[in-house]
This record gives sequence, C-alpha cells and structure tokens, in this order.
Amino acid sequence: MSPASRKPAAHARFAPSLVPRLAPLPAAPEVIVVGAGAAGIAAARTLLGRGVSVAVLEARGRVGGRTVTTMLRGHPIDLGAHWLHAGPINPLVHLGRARGEPLRRAAQEGHVWVGRRPGRAAEAAASARAFDLADRAMTRGAATEGPDRAAARALPRSLGPWGARVARVHGLVSGRPLEEVSLHDFPSMEYGDNVFIAGGYGGYLARLAQGLPIALSSPVARIDWTGVGVRVETADGRRLSARAVIVTAPVMVLRTGLGFTPALPEPVRRAIDGFSTGIYEHAVLHWPSSPFRGRDRLASLVGGRLSPPGLLTRIDGTPFHYFELDSGSAALIDAAGTGADGVRRRVRATLAAHFGPTRLRDLSIPAVSEWRHDPWSQGSWAVVPPGHAPARQVLHAPVGGKIWFAGEALSRLQWGTTGGAYAEGARAAEAVAGRIRMGTAA
Ligand SMILES: Cc1cc2nc3c(=O)[nH]c(=O)nc-3n(C[C@H](O)[C@H](O)[C@H](O)COP(=O)(O)OP(=O)(O)OC[C@H]3O[C@@H](n4cnc5c(N)ncnc54)[C@H](O)[C@@H]3O)c2cc1C
Repeated sequence: MSPASRKPAAHARFAPSLVPRLAPLPAAPEVIVVGAGAAGIAAARTLLGRGVSVAVLEARGRVGGRTVTTMLRGHPIDLGAHWLHAGPINPLVHLGRARGEPLRRAAQEGHVWVGRRPGRAAEAAASARAFDLADRAMTRGAATEGPDRAAARALPRSLGPWGARVARVHGLVSGRPLEEVSLHDFPSMEYGDNVFIAGGYGGYLARLAQGLPIALSSPVARIDWTGVGVRVETADGRRLSARAVIVTAPVMVLRTGLGFTPALPEPVRRAIDGFSTGIYEHAVLHWPSSPFRGRDRLASLVGGRLSPPGLLTRIDGTPFHYFELDSGSAALIDAAGTGADGVRRRVRATLAAHFGPTRLRDLSIPAVSEWRHDPWSQGSWAVVPPGHAPARQVLHAPVGGKIWFAGEALSRLQWGTTGGAYAEGARAAEAVAGRIRMGTAA
C-alpha cells in the first residue's frame, strides 16, 4: 500500500499552532528538497542563504514533520519532538539564541515514586548511580575494539534492583529495547544540557519555515536520476526538474513509499532497509491535581505491577504531562487493536496503581500520538540494530552526484533528534550548494 493511500494517524486531526506564510515554488529550481520537516527546512534555508534556488515538496498539509505543536485548552503542546537535546551541539539551540527565541534550560531534578509513596533520598541516589554506571559501561563497551553487539550486553550486572528501570528508560529513548540496539552506535548520542522552548518545538520550526518556497500536500512518488539532473514526480502526476535533490523523507518511508529510477545502488538500499523502526509515543495528560510539583520534571514511577516507561510532568508549568509509550507498550496496544482508547485505559490503570483511582478524578487525556501509524513517518525515528552501525555514514555520500539524503537517521552525534535532522539538512545543502557553485552537480 502506498503511504498516500494509508489512513492518517489519530493526531493528524490536531491543527498546528502556527501556520507559516509560504512562498510559491520557483519555475526552474536548481535543487528540489523532499520533505519540510527539520531537515528539509534547514536545507531550504541554507540553500537560499547560498543564493541557490530551491523548491520544497511536502507530503502533508503542514510543515514540521515529526516536530509539530498544537493548541490544547489554550496551551501549545508538542505532539512529536519536545526536547532540544544536546544544547552545546544542537544547531537549533545556537540559532534560537541568536534569534532571541524563548529557550529555557531543562530542570536537572526529577521525581522518584516507589509504589504508592514518594521515593526516599537514598532511593533517588541509588537510581542516579545506576544510570551513571550504565552510561559509563555502554560508552566504554562501544569504545573498545571488537565486533558490534547489542547495547544491552554491555549493561553491568551490578546495577541491582534499578537495572530493569535503567534498561527500560534507555529502551524508551532509543526507540527499541537495548537488545535490538547497536552498542557501537548507541553512546554516540549526546543527551546532555537539554533545553525547552516556550510555544513548543513545532511552533519554532514553523517560524523557521516562514517565507520558504514549500508546496504542501505534494507527496513525491518517484525520483528519476537517469541522464542529466533529476526529475521528481508527485503522486498526482506533477513533474519538476532540477540539478540535484535532497531527500529528507524518513528512512521508514524510503523503504516502501518512494521509488527511484534507476534503483538506488545496493549498498545505499541495504543501509536504508537495515534500520529498524523506533517507537516512542506521547499520551498527553491534562491533570491539574497531579501530585508532581515543579516544572518540566521527569518522574520515575517504580515498584508496582505497572509503571510508565517515561513521564514528563507539568510541561512549562502547566497542568499538562506526557506519559510516554515505548515499543513494547505500543506493541501490546496494537496486538489488542484497542488504539488510542486502549492507551487511555492503560495510562489510567498505571496511574491508579500508584496514586489510587480517586486521585485521577480530574485526569483527561486529550491526545495520543500514533506516529507509527502515520503514513509519512511510519515510526518515531530510525534505530541502528547491532551490526548496522556504518549505515549512517553510507547515506552521507551523494548518489550519482545528484541525490543527497538528510534527516535524523543520518546524524551520528544527535541521532533520532530534531537537532540532528536540522544539522544534516544544513550539511547536505552546503554540499549541494558547493557542487552547484563549482558547476559539478550532474
Ligand atoms: C513522539 C515523539 C517524540 C519525540 N521527541 C523528541 C524530542 O523530544 N527531541 C528531539 O530532538 N526529537 C524527538 N523526536 C524525534 C524528532 O521528532 C525527529 O527526529 C525529527 O522531527 C526528524 O526530522 P526529519 O526532518 O528528519 O524528519 P521529519 O520530521 O519526519 O520530516 C520529513 C518530512 O518529509 C515528509 N515526507 C515523507 N514522505 C514524503 C514524500 N514521499 N514526499 C514528500 N514529503 C514526504 C514528511 O511529511 C515530513 O514532513 C520525537 C519523535 C516523536 C515521534
């Protein structure tokens, strides 16, 4: 089934908080960019900055891709990316500071909740120690020579009762259980010094898309790179030509939803097909009487039969919280076929186990994301399974001197993130602009 004929995911009905004013496409662009997420927006801004004309074709009826903000009860809430990870190396943090965007540092403190009571100081310290030990062991494991293996194999046995929690949280933020994640790839991610932005991450990207030449609702079906330059055809039969194309569609979409004539070289195809699909979904809670105080704090709820893989409390000081679903929880929901309502029941059962049902009287769950069912993402981000670590690098090389790939899957230091996608879009655009100015693009 082509992505265009799939049913949109439930969250697709939420309107973006900001709709940027877009420019018409140039009649004869030098470069075509496929996709107007973080990578596509970065590519277009960079190319225009270099004086190269560009046309962006976006499948959805909005910009931002997996980074989108909607308004819920008057508050801007991200339905995809929310954290600006890795502040010191994230280009969107640097750009945001230069533009005077409303950035704020993420809190360092978190909540620990054991069964039905707040965790004790010693428990919080033991948890922090276990995370620290695990990080160091996995970083060391990856740095040593030897064949790649599952990141889980590097976890020390000495983590004690917190070991299961550490594995679960790393499995959540990796998008797959650590048994399915490459140890060589895993620790390359730089998570430190996280930042948030008032008005939402999606709102910020929409501001960055202002004035760009983007055609919405224009899914690309085929890229023909025979002969000179490229010809790009949309699902409704529209054709555009250019000297080069930057493809930022997620690798999950590239596996089935976008054709190339001639077929991509075998090593490139193997690199694309070998990624696995990362799953990370938000259930957005509105819960004014939640027991959590403070702003933007992570909460670990342990010691019961049910525990959330991740919980971010009081987003920007509001009554909104994220209850995060990992790949295992999403698989259970999908196997039961219960959809967003199944997620809502699971969230309620989990919170009731820790706080009692009466505490949930004012809890509502206005949005549940389903990026894994969204035809234009087909997952939350790309994951490198054991043995596939060189794939990100393989995709860096242009194909035939005229097809460049970009997007979160290509970033090594910021994999799976909006900052990484933005950096990769800018990198590809710099390379294309350089080739065009030297007159060497095919
Ligand atoms: C629930 C969730 C939470 C997340 N949390 C964070 C976080 O806190 N921090 C963080 O940094 N990252 C987070 N991420 C990951 C982050 O959202 C992505 O890494 C990032 O948005 C990817 O950007 P991209 O440009 O590579 O891809 P996308 O944003 O997916 O952009 C690609 C664009 O291509 C379009 N497209 C697809 N196929 C076609 C086609 N055939 N023709 C034309 N257009 C096409 C898509 O519609 C899309 O707009 C999260 C993701 C999810 C799902």
